[in-house]
Amino acid sequence: MLRTVEITAELTIPLPSEQFHNLHWQKKLELSLDCFICGRTGRTTHFEYGEERAVCTGDGRSEHPAAARIAGFDVTSAQDRLILRSVLDYWWAPFHDAKRDRPATALTRAPWARLYVGYLCPQSLETESFSIQSNVVRPVNEVCAHCAAPLATDAQSPGIRLLT
Ligand SMILES: [Zn+2]
Ligand SMILES: [Zn+2]
Repeated sequence: MLRTVEITAELTIPLPSEQFHNLHWQKKLELSLDCFICGRTGRTTHFEYGEERAVCTGDGRSEHPAAARIAGFDVTSAQDRLILRSVLDYWWAPFHDAKRDRPATALTRAPWARLYVGYLCPQSLETESFSIQSNVVRPVNEVCAHCAAPLATDAQSPGIRLLT
């Protein structure tokens, strides 16, 4: 059946930001899903906004297309905040993961997400990116890879919520 999950994230931008780095959410993300196609729970699935399918990393080398997509990608940027609300649709069917000996769930047990933030350094004029993800020690202070200016504080794990 079609399931919908919402991923939310928020970064704090330090003020005053002397150096404008044009921070923005990149339109791709990863979420762990229980995949009925390869019959494995907690598979990292790669999503790109605009693509009508996602890619399940399967078991090591056995990548395959997944019936999943980014349905909504809403960005709010205030002066001191970078906020994302993304809605993902995916097809889920029950199965039993024989390797882990556990049943699949519509939202995988202990879901995990990774989101990407791009920026442009005004000094070096080079584009860079960093990622934020579940299961890391917070807060994390991100700095520019070129000029070391503070870019953002990541104080909260992304929210992952099953909507339907
Ligand atoms: Zn799979
Ligand atoms: Zn910089």
